[in-house]
Amino acid sequence: MKEKTLLPVAVIGVLVLWLATVGLWAVDAQKMDERSGDRLPGEQVEAIEWKLVTTWPKGLPGLGSAPENFARRVGEMSNGRLTVRVYGAGEVVPPFEVFDAVAQGVAEMGHGAAYYWKGKIPASVFYTAVPFGMTAQEMNGWLHYGGGLELWRELYAPFGVRPFAGGSTGVQMAGWFNRELKSAADLDGLKMRIPGLAGEVFAASGGTAVRLAGGEIYTSMQTGVIDAVEWVGPYNDRTLGLMQVAEYYYYPGWHEPGAMLEFTVNQDAFDQLPQDLQAIVEGAARATNQDMLDEFTARNNQSLTTLLTEHSTKLRPLPDDVLDVLYINAVSALERLKADDPMAQKIAASYEDFLEGVRRYHEISERAYLNARDRVLPPISFTDQ
Ligand code: CA
Repeated sequence: MKEKTLLPVAVIGVLVLWLATVGLWAVDAQKMDERSGDRLPGEQVEAIEWKLVTTWPKGLPGLGSAPENFARRVGEMSNGRLTVRVYGAGEVVPPFEVFDAVAQGVAEMGHGAAYYWKGKIPASVFYTAVPFGMTAQEMNGWLHYGGGLELWRELYAPFGVRPFAGGSTGVQMAGWFNRELKSAADLDGLKMRIPGLAGEVFAASGGTAVRLAGGEIYTSMQTGVIDAVEWVGPYNDRTLGLMQVAEYYYYPGWHEPGAMLEFTVNQDAFDQLPQDLQAIVEGAARATNQDMLDEFTARNNQSLTTLLTEHSTKLRPLPDDVLDVLYINAVSALERLKADDPMAQKIAASYEDFLEGVRRYHEISERAYLNARDRVLPPISFTDQ
């Protein structure tokens, strides 16, 4: 009996010693690595470089800083193993070819807004904004805890593209108009830059919707090609100089209540990354998504104050009958979209179900709180009104 057990005991002993030695070496190596912050001597690490193409003019604050922030985060988190180079609109591909560039592998990544691809993928509108739909907080809840992201992946999978939320602006402004809107009749004949499902709604309400990239808006307004434009909100509209080309600034952003942007990743390029770099891409995208909302929340009011005090901007609420007409046409546009496209129907079911639930809870939380706060704090006034 004794002889039979001796050998296994000896083997186990050697194994334990070997494991302990390897373990100690590994711990020691980890310490060395942490201390120096560099790679271990002799360690072969492949440096990967990705191109990220965007729909924004290069260097545009706000929307355009999101991909730059993402690239910086990925570089820092991966200790330089993955470098993401950001290209502005037109540097590698024109703004509205960003999705195709990522699908075809011309670039590994893109940053833009999903509703720009509405012509190719009708249901993409759910991933930027739905008129009278969810706010940023609600969208993030739906995406990450309500099944929205899984459906988005399903929507883009046939194109070999993997989507991630890429920032949110919060509730946008209804836009800049070169004339006052007194009633819904004033929408007749108005040419407006307004993309996505809202463009269809605007057209059905009497206007003409035009799709223009950010870099084209200022000149189109200045030369009278368009009469009105929605872009984002005070912070980013000011960076485009829109207060110089229109006087009337309308709210609220009925059409983009929680406008979300997207990171698109070429699925093959993503699959080729080691697991830790995949997690870094995902984590950096998630951080950037929240960071943009934080930045816009902080800066919109500062910019609005500047617009109202240092420029001739006139702030106006959309008249109720304008909102009513837009709502009626938004319902029809959504019904048409669902009838024509099975994926739109599937995503809409999830979106609408989540909206119904979250709206119910927000009635007694977000709204109830804002009402309670308004009861006790001094009333808010704006200088031009
Ligand atoms: Ca917008």
